[in-house]
Amino acid sequence: MAARTVAVLAGGIGGMVAARVLKRELEPQDRAVLVDRDAQYTFAPSLLWVL
Ligand SMILES: Cc1cc2nc3c(=O)[nH]c(=O)nc-3n(C[C@H](O)[C@H](O)[C@H](O)COP(=O)(O)OP(=O)(O)OC[C@H]3O[C@@H](n4cnc5c(N)ncnc54)[C@H](O)[C@@H]3O)c2cc1C
Repeated sequence: MAARTVAVLAGGIGGMVAARVLKRELEPQDRAVLVDRDAQYTFAPSLLWVL
């Protein structure tokens, strides 16, 4: 089977988990690509400590 690329749009907590599960479930030649508008990852629950 030809290699597949699966895009996950938005790399927050949900997107990060989805991409990791996809990578585990897809065939080794497939790719899971995570796309986010920000270059840096922010762990939203930690924002609590900034307040
Ligand atoms: C201060 C604070 C404390 C919290 N504490 C807890 C806690 O203790 N326990 C708990 O379970 N939950 C907690 N939460 C809630 C938890 O953070 C959210 O429920 C969770 O982050 C939601 O995940 P998500 O993937 O839906 O969205 P997010 O994690 O918010 O991710 C959304 C992503 O989408 C990206 N995005 C948005 N628009 C675009 C676009 N147009 N193109 C590309 N990318 C885009 C953003 O850059 C971001 O990376 C807390 C939230 C906050 C703010």
